[in-house]
Amino acid sequence: MAGPGRGRALRRRARRGRDRLDGPRGSDADDARHRDRHPHRLPGFKLKPRPTTSAHGWLQAGVEVYGGPLLNSWLDRELELAGRVAVRGADGTVTEHLVRTGPMLRVPQLAIHLDRAVNDGLALDKQRHTQPVWGLATPGVPGSDPEGDVVAALAEAAGVAPDAVDGFDVVVADTQPPRRFGARGALFASGRLDNLLSTHAALTALLSAGGDAGFAGGDAARIRMVAAFDHEELGSESRSGAAGPFLADVLDRVYAGLGATAEDRHRAIAASWCVSSDVGHAVHPNYPERHDPANHPVAGGGPILKLNANQRYASDAVGSALWQAACRTAGVPSQAFVSNNAVPCGSTIGPITATRLGIRTVDVGAAILSMHSARELCAAVDPWYLSRAMRAALDVSLV
Ligand SMILES: [Zn+2]
Repeated sequence: MAGPGRGRALRRRARRGRDRLDGPRGSDADDARHRDRHPHRLPGFKLKPRPTTSAHGWLQAGVEVYGGPLLNSWLDRELELAGRVAVRGADGTVTEHLVRTGPMLRVPQLAIHLDRAVNDGLALDKQRHTQPVWGLATPGVPGSDPEGDVVAALAEAAGVAPDAVDGFDVVVADTQPPRRFGARGALFASGRLDNLLSTHAALTALLSAGGDAGFAGGDAARIRMVAAFDHEELGSESRSGAAGPFLADVLDRVYAGLGATAEDRHRAIAASWCVSSDVGHAVHPNYPERHDPANHPVAGGGPILKLNANQRYASDAVGSALWQAACRTAGVPSQAFVSNNAVPCGSTIGPITATRLGIRTVDVGAAILSMHSARELCAAVDPWYLSRAMRAALDVSLV
């Protein structure tokens, strides 16, 4: 940024456009803050092309393993199909329709009588043992539908003609609703905590920040963003993943709309920070040895700050301090997570965002159990803690 005059011009444009790109009070620097969250599909199953099969009197659906699910957790649940179908119009255009079938499928477990050794170690073949049933296919049996077709069922649920469906991105989802339970309702179970928990917390924080009234006041205006990405479970390298161009493109367009120069942009990025939130592992009472002895997040202990010497997480000292300041302001506890050296941690989109944008990034999240199960578990208070900390982070400034 060239100087104060330039900053004022930016501020005027920002107000006109109902956007915000201003320096903090007493500073000439632009401060564009970027918040980066990602919901992604929970590891599980995706419907294959030509999905309808039948065997031994059962209608079945062909599914492909998506990401790294705990396969056993998907057994013996009433499941549904959900996602989008692409429909061909009469004029050749393609439209997308969201679809959700309701309870429709189940992957039945083999009875123990037919596998007496099952409790010594369940080994599921990813192809043979994961294909759900969804109806009966024997002619003459009441309720049987030998002509049953998965795509037709999807089309019906979407309210479109079956022969107009030219493509679909449809996954299998558990139909059991989320539930609070346990002593004093302290526990919370749901599918897709990874990572809708972070997305919910981020959106709640952003919305509670309000509009102009949410500012610290005066000229201390900022851009607050939440970005959510697909495909984190697969490494993020896709058009809609964090390694794709979407966030950088949006920032380019914001800066272009504000008339910012390249120098403005560099200064704004340097004055910004990004909170990358994903769930992490709470210490499991039955497997405490899997964690570091001193840094093992406990359920209900507040947001976790993720650190990794090998940059699997992007947090550095300054980012950590900013996050700690946010937690302190919010009045929520915080706790560090670093992996046991013998049990390497996963990664997040934090390092990707930091690498692509050059923005200081801190990896945080909520501690859960049963990660990548069809139904995960956390302390009911932790999503609330995380949201409070994120809300405070929106007002924590680097400069
Ligand atoms: Zn995950």
